[in-house]
This record gives sequence, structure tokens and C-alpha cells, in this order.
Amino acid sequence: MLVINYLKTDAIVLRTYEYSETSYVLSLLTRAQGKLNALAKGGRRPRGVFGGEIDLLAEGQAVLFLAHQAASLHLCTEFCCRARRLGLRSSLDRSSAACYAAELAAAASPEGDSQPQLYDLLAHTLDGLETGDVAAVIAFFQVHLLRLTGLLPDLAACTGCGKRIGTQGALYSFQKAGVICPGCIRDDKEEQERGRSGEGTMAMRVSGATISLIKLALAGKLALDRTRVPSRLAIEAVGFLGRVISAAFEHDSLALRPMLAAMRRR
Ligand SMILES: [Zn+2]
Repeated sequence: MLVINYLKTDAIVLRTYEYSETSYVLSLLTRAQGKLNALAKGGRRPRGVFGGEIDLLAEGQAVLFLAHQAASLHLCTEFCCRARRLGLRSSLDRSSAACYAAELAAAASPEGDSQPQLYDLLAHTLDGLETGDVAAVIAFFQVHLLRLTGLLPDLAACTGCGKRIGTQGALYSFQKAGVICPGCIRDDKEEQERGRSGEGTMAMRVSGATISLIKLALAGKLALDRTRVPSRLAIEAVGFLGRVISAAFEHDSLALRPMLAAMRRR
């Protein structure tokens, strides 16, 4: 039996797929039920029932009919846009950062599972990216995405011996998902073997300044819209956190490299 549920919820358009000449399939992040894919019949018509309101990364109120049958597509019958966020298109670094945030929010959100904090994080990030410091906004997003998914590594102490990591920074091991102090590296035969065999991608140096910036972001002191941190430092943190997230989510982000390239060119 086909059971259909009506749902009215805040939603962000993560992706649009052309389904027919007049219709889209939308990938939505909803506040009420996480990620959902839904058919928007007539969504591509500028003067159709959606009135041209469907746009990539736009946020609004969606009306959905949920089909509780695995093979069925949900149906979106209304989308009332509240924030179109045209500022995201004003430069390549803003647009590529917005795509990165949307891609990761989608990767972190199980289908049909409500995660209002993740929804709010993406919404605030997209707002911040319209006018704010792009690298600082993304660093804040990455830190809190890791926190919300329970995957934020402890960067304050060595995973081997528990020694506090100071301002000199440390080596981050992707295999151990944590930092290692110089003493433990000396004692770690496996790590040395990896170093000799050229498996350099398994570990990465993280500076004390990057660790401090991550702590600031975690404490909420890296405000989304009026942050001023040196851009070189913020970009370094974004590159590091990007690799931590890729390893933790087992998801190779398509948008990470283009975003970092656009940030560095700015
Ligand atoms: Zn140690």
C-alpha cells in the first residue's frame, strides 16, 4: 500500500536535476526530515506554479508529499523562496565555497533524518558567505560540521602519550585521527615505515596557529559575518580541515580543490 504524508518545512535547495523540459528533481536539505529528493512538476517553468522561485542554494518553505515506498519519489508541490542569496554568485570563491558547504551538508545528512542543527549551520554559513570572509566562514562551518557529527578530533593532546600540544603544532595522523607529538613519532615504527615508503598522505603537519584558530571557531569566537583573521591562516585551516573531513566521512569532496584554488587566487 502506498502511504503518503504531507509535510510543510523549511528547506534549502542543495541541487537541481533537470527531469524533463518543465520539471526538476530537487535535492533538498529540510529542517524537519533532513535530506530528501523530490520531483517538482513544472518547476522549470518561469510562470508555473513555482513562479521561478526554485534556485540553487535558495532557502524557503517547501510543501512536500512524502511517498513511503522505497522506489517512489517524493513530490514537492510548493516552494516559497525566502532567501535567494544572489551574493553567492558575486565571485568564484563565494560560489565554490557555497557548493562545498552544500556538498558536505548533504554528505553528513542521512535521508529522512531530522538534524535541525546541521540545517541551521548550513543556512548561517550560506548567509555568511554572501558578504563575509570566505575562508573564515568555511573554517567555522568545517569545525562545527565535525562537532555535530561527533568526528572532531582532539587537537589539544597527543593520541599516543596524551602530552599537551603546544604552540609549535604537531603531526596529524589520518589513520589515528589525531595529533602525534615528536617523541611518539620517534617511537612509532609504523609511522616511520610509512614515511620511508612515501605514504606521505597518511599524515600532515598542522601548525599551532591552525590549532588555535580551530579552538576559536569551536568556542564560537570566530563570528560568521565579521571575522577578521589573516587569510593565509584561514586558508591553511580550511585545507587541513578539508582533509580531516574527507578522511572522517570517507567522502572525497569534488568541491574542495576548486574552492581552495579560488581562495588562494583572491
Ligand atoms: Zn606523544
